[in-house]
Amino acid sequence: MNSRPMSVPKSAAAFEHAKTVTPGGVNSPVRAFLAVGGTPRFIQQAKGPYLTDVDGNRYVDLVSSWGPMLLGHAHPEVLAAVADAAQHGTSFGAPTQAEVDLAEAIIDRTPIDQVRLVNSGTEATLSAIRLARGFTGRDKIIKFVGCYHGHVDSLLAAAGSGVATLGIPGTPGVTAATTADTIVLPYNDRAAVRAAFAEYGDQVACLITEAAPGNMGVIEPGVEDGVGFNRFLADLCHQHGALFISDEVMTGFRVSRSGQYGLDGVPGDLMTFGKVMGGGFPAAAFGGRADIMAQLAPVGSVYQAGTLSGNPVATAAGLATLRLATDEVYETVDKNSEQLRSEVHDALSTAGVPHVINHAGNLFSVFFVADGVDSVTDYAGASAQHTAAYTGFFHSMLEQGVYLPPSAFEGWFLSAAHDSEAMDRIVAALPQAARAAAQN
Ligand SMILES: *Cc1c(COP(=O)(O)O)cnc(C)c1O
Repeated sequence: MNSRPMSVPKSAAAFEHAKTVTPGGVNSPVRAFLAVGGTPRFIQQAKGPYLTDVDGNRYVDLVSSWGPMLLGHAHPEVLAAVADAAQHGTSFGAPTQAEVDLAEAIIDRTPIDQVRLVNSGTEATLSAIRLARGFTGRDKIIKFVGCYHGHVDSLLAAAGSGVATLGIPGTPGVTAATTADTIVLPYNDRAAVRAAFAEYGDQVACLITEAAPGNMGVIEPGVEDGVGFNRFLADLCHQHGALFISDEVMTGFRVSRSGQYGLDGVPGDLMTFGKVMGGGFPAAAFGGRADIMAQLAPVGSVYQAGTLSGNPVATAAGLATLRLATDEVYETVDKNSEQLRSEVHDALSTAGVPHVINHAGNLFSVFFVADGVDSVTDYAGASAQHTAAYTGFFHSMLEQGVYLPPSAFEGWFLSAAHDSEAMDRIVAALPQAARAAAQN
């Protein structure tokens, strides 16, 4: 492909300026490219599977805004719904029919009885945990190392995503008292979960897990004796009177019509959603069993609220996105994912780069492991990867016009707009990137 080095003077200047007005020049840490180095691209516009930066370079996008853009960027029907909603006013602080329609669309695709809309995945998980504590009258929560549930104080213990990328063990500003009730366990470790419940079972309000972890790279929920990890967790929670919270903010409406639930069929007592259901706008949700949701204000006494919750523009984008997310969309994304996983495997094998490719439905990630490692099942495995190899791979792909996550700890996100031209561009870039990985 193009052999001249890509020119990014406008992104470089914008980044320098940004750093003077906002910490690190970004509004979410991973965007700063710290883990891979180099100049973060400032994006001018996006259409379908492509991003265009301020210097006019075009990339096939494999980040998809970290998940939301299941249909590709600037889908005409989503834009039309947004424009139409905005014409009628952008926020009322009073109920609207569209919020009810979005709630019904979510309930229709998932096992939950009732839902409440919020503005971010972070708000969804923090509200779900408050509700679980209010409902059970218990304090302790269990989470897994490397799972990311947003930047909720009590959930930032041993978290994934940017916390993992930056190698931050915990985070200053979160008090010991706040995380004292958080029990953190290794993912896929059934003995550890059994032991925690044996010791603290009657104090545990809830266990929260990503329905399939995607923030330490993608990790598959393991199956033992025919029982999947989510089923095991849900059963153990119920034996001890605790709630099982399935965080589907990343997987929901992306890996299937409903999410990981559609793949393994294990419902959460509470479930959290975000990303795809906001259609590229700030909208998220939590929901679950009717008797639990009835504890929320104004019906019950667990308080939860939001000035912009159910915002009409975000709601219109989410509703249009879910309506357009048909079986064909999931078939396309699944097919693209399968093709890309196999092409990446071939290219890395040819270049002699040891790797493990994990996937949960169409969500997948590539681990550059030590020679002889053939599986990655938890955060210890994910963090043992050879991140320098990823850095080489990442920059080669970027130079060739393919925008991968700027971190070895993130999944790769495809969309239904990745047509054969976009897929061919990715595949053509792989051999050179694989050789770069081999050299690092
Ligand atoms: C992205 C994510 C969140 C946080 O969502 P925000 O909208 O970024 O606050 C929570 N849980 C999971 C599993 C996520 O992937």
